[in-house]
Amino acid sequence: KLQLLRSNREGDLSSDVAKPFYVPVNRTKEVQEARMKLPVCGEEQVIMEAIRNNTVVVICGETGSGKTTQVPQFLYEAGWSHPDSDNPGLIAITQPRRVAAVSMAKRVGYELNLPESVVSHQIRYDVTTSEKTRIKFMTDGVLLRELSQDLLLTKYSVIIIDEAHERNLNTDILIGVVSRVLKLRAELSREDRAKIKPLRVVIMSATLRVSDFTENSTLFTKPPPVISVNARQYPVSIHFNKRTPEDHVAEAFKKVSKIHDRLPEGGILIFLTGQNEIQHLCKLLREKYPSLPPKAALEERKRIRQAAELELKRDAAIPGEAAMESEEIALGENQVEDFDLESDSDDSDSDLGFDEEELVSTKDAPLHVLPLYSSLPTEAQLRVFQPPPEGTRLCVIATNVAETSVTIPGIRYVVDCGKAKERRYDIKTGVQSFEVDWTSKASAGQRAGRAGRTGPGHCYRLYSSAVFDHDFEQFSTPEISRMPIEGVVLNMKSMGIDNVVNFPFPTPPERQTLSKAEKLLGYLGAIDTDVKHITPVGQAMANLPVTPRFAKMLVIGNQQDCLPFVIAIVAALSVGDPFIQEYHLEENEDDSDDDSLDHKELKGLNRETEIAKARRRLMRKKYFESQIKHAGLDRSSDILKLLNVVGAYEYAGATAEFCEENFLRSKAMEEIRKLRWQLTNLMAALFENVDVWVDPKMLPPTKRQIKFLKQVITAGFIDSVAIRKDVIENGGQGGTRFKNARGVAYKLMWSEEEAFIHPGSILYSQEPPIALVYNELFKGATKTCFKGVTAIDTKWLPEIGKEFCSFGRPLDHPIPKYSEQTKDKKTVYVVPSFGPKGWPLPPIQ
Ligand code: ADP
Ligand code: MG
Repeated sequence: KLQLLRSNREGDLSSDVAKPFYVPVNRTKEVQEARMKLPVCGEEQVIMEAIRNNTVVVICGETGSGKTTQVPQFLYEAGWSHPDSDNPGLIAITQPRRVAAVSMAKRVGYELNLPESVVSHQIRYDVTTSEKTRIKFMTDGVLLRELSQDLLLTKYSVIIIDEAHERNLNTDILIGVVSRVLKLRAELSREDRAKIKPLRVVIMSATLRVSDFTENSTLFTKPPPVISVNARQYPVSIHFNKRTPEDHVAEAFKKVSKIHDRLPEGGILIFLTGQNEIQHLCKLLREKYPSLPPKAALEERKRIRQAAELELKRDAAIPGEAAMESEEIALGENQVEDFDLESDSDDSDSDLGFDEEELVSTKDAPLHVLPLYSSLPTEAQLRVFQPPPEGTRLCVIATNVAETSVTIPGIRYVVDCGKAKERRYDIKTGVQSFEVDWTSKASAGQRAGRAGRTGPGHCYRLYSSAVFDHDFEQFSTPEISRMPIEGVVLNMKSMGIDNVVNFPFPTPPERQTLSKAEKLLGYLGAIDTDVKHITPVGQAMANLPVTPRFAKMLVIGNQQDCLPFVIAIVAALSVGDPFIQEYHLEENEDDSDDDSLDHKELKGLNRETEIAKARRRLMRKKYFESQIKHAGLDRSSDILKLLNVVGAYEYAGATAEFCEENFLRSKAMEEIRKLRWQLTNLMAALFENVDVWVDPKMLPPTKRQIKFLKQVITAGFIDSVAIRKDVIENGGQGGTRFKNARGVAYKLMWSEEEAFIHPGSILYSQEPPIALVYNELFKGATKTCFKGVTAIDTKWLPEIGKEFCSFGRPLDHPIPKYSEQTKDKKTVYVVPSFGPKGWPLPPIQ
């Protein structure tokens, strides 16, 4: 192995990094013993030599082999990041998930016996770095942001990019940018190079499928060496269901009960698709197998319920792109069996794949049931690492977070529903939805592998082998091929990468996606539409940690006296819907904390409910009284309603009681509050005229401010205008009168598709506006609906959406009526030319 690595040396690199140098570490005996069992520790020398001799090294190792926790420690001990060494820069480790960045920093700090100020983390809302920081765990988004300030990464001596196999969007971009950074550094003149310290890059993957990184000549000129850590993997027997059940939660309940009643000791790990399924199964299992005294169980349930109210978070749990070639071989050697029809449905235990004499009877033994999903508070997540109470069996019910990010000790049985919830995004129309679908064969392999960490295990797949063979993709698609990337493109532009089309992406996105992102940025005024170079507005936008459209709103909101309102709006929109809907309580939800629309939801919303009543109470609250006095209650925008809720919450003292009373997710409201502060500080740092003070008792906006806010919203959603179909069909003349928005179709900008105002919108029960902008477009079971609607005045469009509109007399236009008198009495004709066929604007009222 060493021989191979030496032959891969790029010139003589070994002289530009530290001579072996040992930093003493004071680990506890217990930690030391646990480390020694990790497969990665057996490869310490090979890994360190490879890093010394190569600028880029790839490390592959099965989940749980110790990559994340140990590699940073090897580097630390060998003097990397030590101020007296030749590479005093920090050791950085990036993670796709916030929760992993925090928990791994905690774990490594604990193992090294060093405080948080030395082994620190940095995520969007939380930073513990200090002058003393040596090892820094962060999300890949944070490092991408830093890159726009310091493209050469001069602060660091090593960048470890972890979980690369997940093919998360940010991770992919990061690998591309870092490859550029290395090229840039290599191109520096001798003197300039002498001024900065060398940089090493380590890419870590839980699978051997790394060819997109190693065999991609646009990324690294020389293929980096791959070190694979042979984790000891015990055989796992795979048991398929004969039939694929409709309800995988009920099926999981049956299976877990059988395992717990009849099989020898060993933890159970269950993979489901989302938070609500997980809570539901937790409840069923806790009722059947109480493991705690009644009072504690009650407390526990309360906590779970609170966790259920956790709001939207940005970083969705994306199913890992996972190729376990080695594991598949291992699994191939295992016994794979299907069961006959009878045994699948009856009470017999033969589907467990154990011989009769191996079965035990543990009826009514306690079961220690723990949920695990991304929006669960960190402390609650960390409980899965603790041994279960004496005499109980550990049972963790998780989303694909447990697939590779975290390794739960002592798992012997895996129950896999075979599905995952994924964010889907229609590149053409911009329609976003969440769908539960089969995972990939590679992910199923990873999930099964969790059962073979500590001894031979069993994986029960709640679907048939026929479904597995026919309906499962080999691997899941890299996120970049599925996601909107305007934020990433703006970020890349701000780093001076103008030609995003030629960027060394590990998997290049479709040209269409890239050019659509560029187009939106053009509409928002963030880039020059001709040369595709970032504008000063775009530069200001790129500094703000929100999506480009929100950034635009902040930047223009600052030009008027409305910034505090715009900040509150942006904070609320970035955090996501704080309203608890019935379907959140009843229906299955996904782990990415986002909601999709379906017919059940529509039904739920039409019912007169507790929640609806509470909402009406909320509208009568003091805050609104003062607002009505002030400006009249505005009912023309869901986004302004959100602003009202933020105002009312602050007015009531920002209490959890207020949230409970009004069916608001208190965690979401807190996060909005935090983000308001953060954005205000940021704006203050960026713009001279911003006051750093956030007024918690912000007064409601005046009439004039309301109008301006709606224009700000229009500017941010300028590519999401919709106009009533009947008005367009009527040649822009008036149109039908409607009592409410039920069944009233709107025409979208980018497609022929029609859409409707969602019944949950404040605008639903009113005369539907001629034009609107929407925040979200969701494909429901029967219709596409707008959420977060704001009624707008078409007069604003030529001003705010100049990019779409052509001015001058539209000679060949059939309806020459769209005219307007300007201040100097000239008549301009406005014919917006966006959309597939050109878009007549309705008459200006
Ligand atoms: P990898 O990154 O290769 O998947 P890790 O470094 O995350 O592996 O994990 C190595 C070992 O450390 C695993 O056995 C895991 O169970 C254990 N471990 C990780 N975090 C914790 C923690 N917070 N508490 C206890 N054990 C942990
Ligand atoms: Mg890891």
